[in-house]
Amino acid sequence: MYKNLYLKKGKEESLERFHPWIFSGAIHHIEGEPEEGEVVRVLTSEGDFIAVGHWQIGSIAVRVLDFEDKAVDGAYWEDRLRVAYDLRCAIGVAGHEKGNDTYRLVHGEGDCLPGLVVDVYGKTAVMQAHSVGMHVARHEIARALVAVTGGTVENVYYKSETTLPFKAELGQENGFIVGGSTENVAVENGLKFHIDWLKGQKTGFFVDQRDNRLLLEHYAHGRAVLNMFCYTGGFSVYAMRGGATLVHSVDSSAKAIDLTRANVELNFPGDARHEAYAEDAFKYLDAIKYLDRMGDQYDLIILDPPAFAKHKDALRQALKGYARLNAKAFSKIKPGGILFTFSCSQVVSKDHFRTAVFTAAAQSGRRVRILHQLHQPADHPVNIYHPEGEYLKGLVLYVE
Ligand code: SAH
Repeated sequence: MYKNLYLKKGKEESLERFHPWIFSGAIHHIEGEPEEGEVVRVLTSEGDFIAVGHWQIGSIAVRVLDFEDKAVDGAYWEDRLRVAYDLRCAIGVAGHEKGNDTYRLVHGEGDCLPGLVVDVYGKTAVMQAHSVGMHVARHEIARALVAVTGGTVENVYYKSETTLPFKAELGQENGFIVGGSTENVAVENGLKFHIDWLKGQKTGFFVDQRDNRLLLEHYAHGRAVLNMFCYTGGFSVYAMRGGATLVHSVDSSAKAIDLTRANVELNFPGDARHEAYAEDAFKYLDAIKYLDRMGDQYDLIILDPPAFAKHKDALRQALKGYARLNAKAFSKIKPGGILFTFSCSQVVSKDHFRTAVFTAAAQSGRRVRILHQLHQPADHPVNIYHPEGEYLKGLVLYVE
């Protein structure tokens, strides 16, 4: 039986609205001494049951798994993962979709599985635990993953070395916990990508830009394209398929540039339209020296930087950073050109971001129209009771 955790009086309010986190300050006492990662039963100060969840030392002390008094066992994980998988089939990214085997199967709180992220690349699922509880349950979860995906997922690579709290001293190493495969080419909307889950960022690929890349492809025809912060070259490859006349990919990481070159080569071998540069984005935009043939401007620029603000305290600086970056980009866009601009900082709201881009547009003195307002795709769902899960936002702008 799970240990009981009692809340202070009145601290059950957010849970009554199904918010999945309990902060340490809300706890009155716990019966017994649970180990980090153990499942606990949460009770109100009156002793009424309210939730079960994973216990952990830290500001978020409990991550709620269920608001029913349930056992969290192998059957439980199968139930929850089946719901997640059915959702991906319903939105058309998993199952028997042609031309796509790349999708996010579990998006933490968005799938009522706080602390767990799973991305699927063909036959391999890459699983990341962000909580000790998910780490403890990793083998049960991995088995359930294979069971619910109807045989399409054969390998589970566990990658939590950097996402678990180091104080928990779990000594976690990355590696396969089911199967093992060196086949790492996945297909997204018919395009092939090498996925480096061993050394790449996050789970190896940014699955969250899939729909936005497709939109970019639609605008690429006949345009000279600059893909800033290209990482694995996702947007570059789509731009090439869309008929761009030239594609320049820029990233400060030499490793990212290698990955981009390899992915372009995989889809468009020997295609001379593509060039890649390992350089700082700000420096590149200040001194575009690669464009002698066409003046110093592009028809289409993509800005998809890393999160400028990881915490609320960094918000002001981050907004300045977005404004500065976008102002530079506006000055490098030809009349009639298009800007795809993104922020993946969770603490930067849609309105904040729009204001930063507005500031940049005003500085440039150009006439600018919003064509599309973009967000994370449906396989990164936002739990309506956990609006913090909304993080990716983007604008597509027409620059006169
Ligand atoms: N657009 C990519 C994801 C971008 S992730 C995609 O679709 O997959 C952010 C990338 O920005 C990382 O690859 C990181 O190496 C790069 N980066 C971070 N700081 C940078 C800087 N100052 N200049 C250029 N690239 C930078």
